[in-house]
Amino acid sequence: MRVLLVEDDSRIAAEVRSALEEAGYVVDVAREGEDAWFKGDVEDYDAAILDLGLPGMDGIAVLKRWREGGRALPVLILTARGSWVERVEGIDAGADDYLPKPFQMPELLARLRAILRRSAGQASPVISIGSVSLDTRKMAVDVGGRDIGMTSQEYRLLAYLMHHAGRVVTTTEIVDHLYGDDSERAENSVEVFIGRIRRKLGVDLIHTRRGFGYFVEGGEA
Ligand code: CA
Repeated sequence: MRVLLVEDDSRIAAEVRSALEEAGYVVDVAREGEDAWFKGDVEDYDAAILDLGLPGMDGIAVLKRWREGGRALPVLILTARGSWVERVEGIDAGADDYLPKPFQMPELLARLRAILRRSAGQASPVISIGSVSLDTRKMAVDVGGRDIGMTSQEYRLLAYLMHHAGRVVTTTEIVDHLYGDDSERAENSVEVFIGRIRRKLGVDLIHTRRGFGYFVEGGEA
């Protein structure tokens, strides 16, 4: 999953970035509003974490411009503690959730997982398709109750496909969302990882659409 982090405080930005990367996200950081708006407008992110107090264009203005431009990505806003006015403005401007500062990292990660799930139409933190269950809280996978050991790369790829069950996901899209800028090498690895995941699962979950990409049948929430 690829996330845009918008935060002008360099200490907070560094902490959040490393927590997100540790949790398996690909992260881009923007430090001011104009840059944030531009990145969110031209790049394809799975979600954004948006601080509202920014130099130049503030977070509310960034969010409004994304929504006016038809950008539907889920957005978690970071608000000043106790500022209910900011929260109301943010939600009215199209935020999906908010987190008051200061916050604990596990809460930020949980709220991010929740907005990602909802944007994929999943109410539950566990995505089940056929006999395969993916627990987004534990980053764990099981088939018919049997735990499947996966590397973080394999887990991220499978999670992305299962989040987008019901449509073809192209190799380019996978590289873009899971590997960030290291794309040359990654393009070749996708096929290798898919092969490993298929062998580990031992069930027919991931289908190949030759010349396009991969496809997982639509799941149940
Ligand atoms: Ca700020």
